[in-house]
Amino acid sequence: MSGLLFQGVEGEIDATHLLHEVALKGHDFSRAIKSPNRESALAAEGWGALGENVPQGLKPASFLAASGGTTEVVPFQSLSAPELSLIPDPCSLFPAFDKLREECGVIAIHGHPEAARQAYLGLYALQHRGQESAGIATADGQHLANIKGMGLVSEIFTDDVLDKLPGQMAIGHTRYSTTGDSALLNAQPIRVDSTKGLIAIAHNGNLVNLGNVRARLERDGAYFQTTSDSEIIVQLIAHSPASTLVDAIADSLGQIDGAFSIVMMTRDRVFAARDPHGFRPLSMGRIKNPDGPDTIVFASESCAFDLLRATFERDVLPGELVMVTEDGVTSRQYATGVAQSSCIFEHVYFARPDSRIFGRWVQESRDQMGRQLARESGVPADLVVPVPDSGVTAAMGYAEEAGLPFRMGLIRNHYVGRTFIEPEQRVRDFGVRLKLNPVRNLLEGKRVILIDDSIIRGTTSRKIVRMVRGAGASEVHLRISCPPTVSPCFYGVDTPSKRELIAANNSIEEIRQFIEADSLAYLSLEGLLKCCDGEEHTGYCTACYTGNYPTQWVDVEEILPVAVSI
Ligand code: SF4
Repeated sequence: MSGLLFQGVEGEIDATHLLHEVALKGHDFSRAIKSPNRESALAAEGWGALGENVPQGLKPASFLAASGGTTEVVPFQSLSAPELSLIPDPCSLFPAFDKLREECGVIAIHGHPEAARQAYLGLYALQHRGQESAGIATADGQHLANIKGMGLVSEIFTDDVLDKLPGQMAIGHTRYSTTGDSALLNAQPIRVDSTKGLIAIAHNGNLVNLGNVRARLERDGAYFQTTSDSEIIVQLIAHSPASTLVDAIADSLGQIDGAFSIVMMTRDRVFAARDPHGFRPLSMGRIKNPDGPDTIVFASESCAFDLLRATFERDVLPGELVMVTEDGVTSRQYATGVAQSSCIFEHVYFARPDSRIFGRWVQESRDQMGRQLARESGVPADLVVPVPDSGVTAAMGYAEEAGLPFRMGLIRNHYVGRTFIEPEQRVRDFGVRLKLNPVRNLLEGKRVILIDDSIIRGTTSRKIVRMVRGAGASEVHLRISCPPTVSPCFYGVDTPSKRELIAANNSIEEIRQFIEADSLAYLSLEGLLKCCDGEEHTGYCTACYTGNYPTQWVDVEEILPVAVSI
């Protein structure tokens, strides 16, 4: 029997509910067991098991079904297994690069007369962390307004819309979902009118004990408006026995496990917190106001501060809850003694090079990755070419270390993106060529070292290698600035199932043959950790390279043989 099992399910949960709950985590169901029922689901001391033939990418309660160029939302409970099997993986509808996708970016502003516009600018700088939906909530001491929509920040928040968001406080969110479906319902900030008053929340990350907590809250009478796990945090606050709001927040955050960097707002206060592991980044900045209290800003990445003309002050610490009121900034550690495991892939790929996260500039880490890669797996060549954009910084480091010319031998078309989401087969067939084009006069007759930051399924890498060779390169050597990706992520990153991860199922030589490169090498794990080590000696999560998860999740695919070949 193969399947995705998960621990800690309790109470009145049937198999459909289990399916729903695990769908919230964006898992692949395709390897799960047949005909689930409550008995099988709750078998083996609280381990749940899930049904078969559910397509990868399924979202809770609904998912995108595509046919004939149109997309509609279909409740999955109403579909039979044969119908389900006809529905393609939504990821395959996107002719984008074969990359892992970050889930969210968050921003918070306290004490600015144009808080909504500041939040807008901050989200604009964080757009790379999610392009599916965006939202801004503001508060003026009395009221709490909230506007969100599907699309890019600049598409949703026109001048007119921003005018409808008054107040000196704001929180904002930009989203690419891995939990909850992609509908507007789950866009954030989420606003909940609770026994503790109005609360708006924006959350980056994934909770991993969600089934447990959600079921318990529902038994206690909680009514969930969304399928997003972020709402669980607000419901926990609402149901907390603690007498003050700040105690209720600290109490609630202590009950959840997983990845969360959150910003919250009431009518008169802003809060920011990170999970005790510190998976996702969250920084605090300040705008000096000569005539009054400073504006305090929080953002997923410090690159947002630059646009706001805010100065970076510090990271919100793992397990820390920061509160900003009219009286200033106060902080408390709501959790201690947990080993830090910040996402190392933020340094490899997600975060912008102009951001400082986990106590270290991303640019510096990537430059070091390129240098280390050159030291570990140098090869005679004529030039170093990045796969733009994310491979650029590492390629510059590699070229400098190897004493080779750095050339932009591939040009990225920045204007292709959501425009081509429409799943027309004839458009999809363009694949990588829509986004990248080789510079033939740079590549012709050259031995090329291509630098990229990951190989996920391998298909895109093969197309790029073919493209470079097709432009006349005499040799193509691919170098990857991190170790092979062998395990899925449960902490807020959209990862394909293990069986789709080429490195989980094939040797490096087999991958080299598949992508048709003359040579292939990855950065070692030791090398990567060295490149991301800074003064603060941050502890990192490396689970997608090692399969060693910092929390209690267990994926049975980790321990079962995988019979998939490329
Ligand atoms: Fe980051 Fe990988 Fe850990 Fe996920 S599993 S948090 S992507 S390092």
